[in-house]
Amino acid sequence: MPRKIFAPDYYPAFHCIADKCRHTCCAGWEIDIDEDSLKKYQSMEDELGAFLRGHIDLKPVPHFRLAKGERCPLLRSDLLCELILQKGDSALCQICRDHPRFRNYWSDRVEIGLGLACEEAARVILSSNHPLRLIEIGTVKGEVAEPLLEDELWLMEYRAQMLAQIQEKGPAARLREYFIYRHLADAVYDGQLEKRLQFIDDACRALLQGWDREDLSALVERARAFSNEVEYDDELWN
Ligand code: SF4
Repeated sequence: MPRKIFAPDYYPAFHCIADKCRHTCCAGWEIDIDEDSLKKYQSMEDELGAFLRGHIDLKPVPHFRLAKGERCPLLRSDLLCELILQKGDSALCQICRDHPRFRNYWSDRVEIGLGLACEEAARVILSSNHPLRLIEIGTVKGEVAEPLLEDELWLMEYRAQMLAQIQEKGPAARLREYFIYRHLADAVYDGQLEKRLQFIDDACRALLQGWDREDLSALVERARAFSNEVEYDDELWN
């Protein structure tokens, strides 16, 4: 049986809002370039190809050298991406194509989700009006599903029980589900279940403390900032 891909049912509703985004992800992050994209950029013979090559540093890993204000050199003043405009989404390197998505790997499936670091993804996640539902969105080409290992079976059941306890409507409940869905699965690999559970509790408490429950945009902004500053801190899980 092929290895299936699952995602929350709100996943297809996400679309990058590009120039409408107040916190573009095209600034402040140094973007590493995957091997296939690098080859593509190195063989582009037009003016854009020359521009790209002039803004790529190959060491320590190939990446776009940030321009003034730590902006991606391809980000235009109107907040649109020059590469997308000229060549379409498929010309983006892997990281830009993926953002703000994450993947968790189980033996029998891949689970995809949207991350809170993007304001539009955070809005989509937190405004969902029902408990988390996973839907099948495809299969991984050329991969066969393996039976779940004992640890995975246990963790999946544990997660299902945690999620089943969240039946409330509203952004606070969706926030907790997000952290569970995003961060619990990796406990199979790093064995840090206790630390991950503590992180989920702490993150929810920090984000919900003093939040006006009517104000979705305020929570979206808190979640976005928290995700950018804390959630992807390399030292968090080390
Ligand atoms: S943060 Fe999200 S909405 Fe904003 S530019 Fe990036 S992907 Fe698009």
